[in-house]
Amino acid sequence: MSDVDLGPKSGALLFNSLKDKNSIILAANPRIALVSKGIFQAAKDMDAALIVELARSECDLKGGYTGLNPAEFSRRTNETAREVGFDIWALHADHIGIKKGTPEDIEGTKELVSGQIDAGFTSFAIDASHLFNFQGGDLREELADNINATTEVGRHIEEKMAGRGYGLEVEVGEIGREDESGRVLTSPEEGVTFITALNENGIKPHVLAIANGSAHGNTYDAEGNLIEQVSIDIPRTMAVAKALRDHNLDVRIAQHGITGTPRDLIHNYFPHGDVVKGNVATFYQNMVWDLFKVYEPELYSDIWNWTLENYREQGKGKSDNEVFGKFSKMAIKQFFDRIYSVGEDTKQAITALAYAETLVFLKAFNAGGTAQIVRDSMK
Ligand SMILES: [Zn+2]
Repeated sequence: MSDVDLGPKSGALLFNSLKDKNSIILAANPRIALVSKGIFQAAKDMDAALIVELARSECDLKGGYTGLNPAEFSRRTNETAREVGFDIWALHADHIGIKKGTPEDIEGTKELVSGQIDAGFTSFAIDASHLFNFQGGDLREELADNINATTEVGRHIEEKMAGRGYGLEVEVGEIGREDESGRVLTSPEEGVTFITALNENGIKPHVLAIANGSAHGNTYDAEGNLIEQVSIDIPRTMAVAKALRDHNLDVRIAQHGITGTPRDLIHNYFPHGDVVKGNVATFYQNMVWDLFKVYEPELYSDIWNWTLENYREQGKGKSDNEVFGKFSKMAIKQFFDRIYSVGEDTKQAITALAYAETLVFLKAFNAGGTAQIVRDSMK
């Protein structure tokens, strides 16, 4: 393996090689980076192409809520890839969120993207889905601010990458947004209008994130009990993918917010190939917290208490359980040193569990063998 390049590969290479292979690429979020080794080991053993990603909120130039800036996240992930000896992975910037779309907002976003590119990121998700004009006369007007912001940041990526390949994800329809009648879903026309406009502007995304009934993070019932998420609208997802194909738009779907979705449902019913990227984030965080209960009870209890003390107000009316489930991610930076200096036995258990759980995801995603398909297309 000594002459094999174990650095991150272009997201474009992964998406283009695998877009019609009836499989989903796992996009794993190592918010607590101790899970990375098990994830890489599983990808290696299944020979499954892998995307590793953190969102802007988690990993910005100041470190975000994980305490990892792009350079540090990249350094750690590259180290893990070398340690495990796995080659077919991309380093992806998830949710490069543009919330206001003001000139300052766009400039700050470009600075972040420049930092990500300098750190060696090979794939990018521009998310200006919050910029929706409810007063717009037609779809194009409603989406105009999203289209403009995505175009501007997309052009910056193109310029900074200077001819090197990279993956591009864009987003239409804010994931998890609700109105009086429930979750708002992206329509096929919306997807087509958005991608057509971007292509006209010279922006050619590989994957599109849509609002299709999932939400980020954990799902709770009215009493605050953690429950499965079975709300992803599969027929709608397939309809959006079909509309894109029917309009000759070379874009597939990125599924966000998979945590809580039963793996048998993914395996047996998800439209693999329409969905080509599947994001799994909070799942891994839950896994670490559960292990801490047994292996690091004092640390767990301190994280629990800190979260409830600081977020009780924001989570008003919710059970302790739910407040912890929704806001404990904010404790990662706060407890950074203690989390990363847990005992070897704890780290071993995290690696073992992350490995096993990732195997199950890769199986459910029909991802076994996809790394070889990517290697073959590099020849
Ligand atoms: Zn997401």
